[in-house]
Amino acid sequence: MKEIIIATKNKGKADEFKSFFKKYGVSVKSLLDFQEVMPDVDETGSTFEENAALKAEEISAMLSIPVLADDSGLVIDALNGEPGIYSARYAGEPKNDQANLNKVLQELQNVPKDNRKARFVCVLAIAMPGEATVFRTGYCEGEIAFSPRGEHGFGYDPIFIPQGCNYTMAELSAKEKNEISHRSNAINQLEDWIISI
Ligand code: IMP
Repeated sequence: MKEIIIATKNKGKADEFKSFFKKYGVSVKSLLDFQEVMPDVDETGSTFEENAALKAEEISAMLSIPVLADDSGLVIDALNGEPGIYSARYAGEPKNDQANLNKVLQELQNVPKDNRKARFVCVLAIAMPGEATVFRTGYCEGEIAFSPRGEHGFGYDPIFIPQGCNYTMAELSAKEKNEISHRSNAINQLEDWIISI
């Protein structure tokens, strides 16, 4: 059976990948399935691609099998692309979703609706021993709300309104979010790669 490791310790993400790969007969493990402690790879890159590749390549070199890693974040046009690769810690350490979204609302407080365009970005990197790393990128376009709404999801979901939607991402169910999210969009682009391995 084909096997791939997902370089994450986040169970929600690992489950999302497992359910995608299942239909292709690919066995999926995450870093949570290993007894030994896997290193936390430092995200020292300056792009989503570099950070995803760093994580995938380091773990693949250790285990000698294909490893998939993702890096994601929120890109806001009026903030010159911020928070971008710094999304998880935009308001500083320790990582705090509420503080991060408050900082975004503060930065955009005088910015009118027409200039609040943003997108979630998810880059997947698949590192394979002896081969070039493969990348897939998914987007979810939208705009930033004026105040938070909704209880679902995580991160910036309460202030992100997907394009063509009257609700924030946090007002959508998990199933509805998965149909349009940047992550599922990137995952869906993996089909040709899976068939080729
Ligand atoms: P990571 O790639 O899981 O480290 O995510 C980086 C950060 O981007 C998260 O901590 C969130 O702040 C933000 N982010 C990524 N994906 C989402 C999403 O689907 N909803 C809301 N925030 C997200």
